[in-house]
Amino acid sequence: RWEGEAEIDYVFKVVVVGDSAVGKTQLLSRFTRDEFALDSKSTIGVEFQTRTLTLHRKRVKAQIWDTAGQERYVRPVVLDRAPPSILYILTFTARRRCVARRTPVMRPMPGPVQLDVYRAVTSAYYRGALGAMVVYDVTRRATFEHVSRWVEELRAHADGSSTVVALIGNKADMPAARREVAADEAARLAEEQGLFFSEASALTGDNVERAFLTLLEEVFAVVS
Ligand code: GDP
Repeated sequence: RWEGEAEIDYVFKVVVVGDSAVGKTQLLSRFTRDEFALDSKSTIGVEFQTRTLTLHRKRVKAQIWDTAGQERYVRPVVLDRAPPSILYILTFTARRRCVARRTPVMRPMPGPVQLDVYRAVTSAYYRGALGAMVVYDVTRRATFEHVSRWVEELRAHADGSSTVVALIGNKADMPAARREVAADEAARLAEEQGLFFSEASALTGDNVERAFLTLLEEVFAVVS
């Protein structure tokens, strides 16, 4: 143990999944830093942020993983072009002398490489996750329709069925006219799938703290 870790009783890994642009990164920065940050997601791979809190007199470090754009690689069928930053990384690995030439154009990626990137990122991302948030955007119905697929993916990759899963309908601050998913419909789905459910807004902060705390409490109940 390092000195700084001395008072930590538990580290809970929590992953946040869902379609692109549903607000995963913003939910994370709202919970860990109480900020609604400007997006700056240029990296492939995984990143996490932490927040340490006390639950039942134990110091718990929540280590919350963000996909950093990984969701674009989850459906290889959809992907036939890679963002320039990805090409850069792959080029770096394969042919060192090309490093400085970061190409500004989108180019097709070779199939096998694409699949390897996907596999490596996916397994590292889910490994050891005790909790998960599946996020959709209440103003985009398609993101809600993909929820079941995300839950399947979680169940397939996270260890066992003990991972606690919360369903979060984000952007609840948006005007009613923009809404494409009703809260009671989502609540029904959550009940069918055995998930916790809450709507939230990373923008206003509504329910964000409560949703994460509920999830962490439940993880605590499972592990202690
Ligand atoms: P991610 O791809 O799922 O990580 O999504 P981001 O966190 O990058 O957010 C995608 C977009 O939705 C950004 O333009 C955010 O500013 C916006 N956004 C995220 N959360 C909210 C929210 O609670 N309310 C509103 N109105 N916009 C949000």
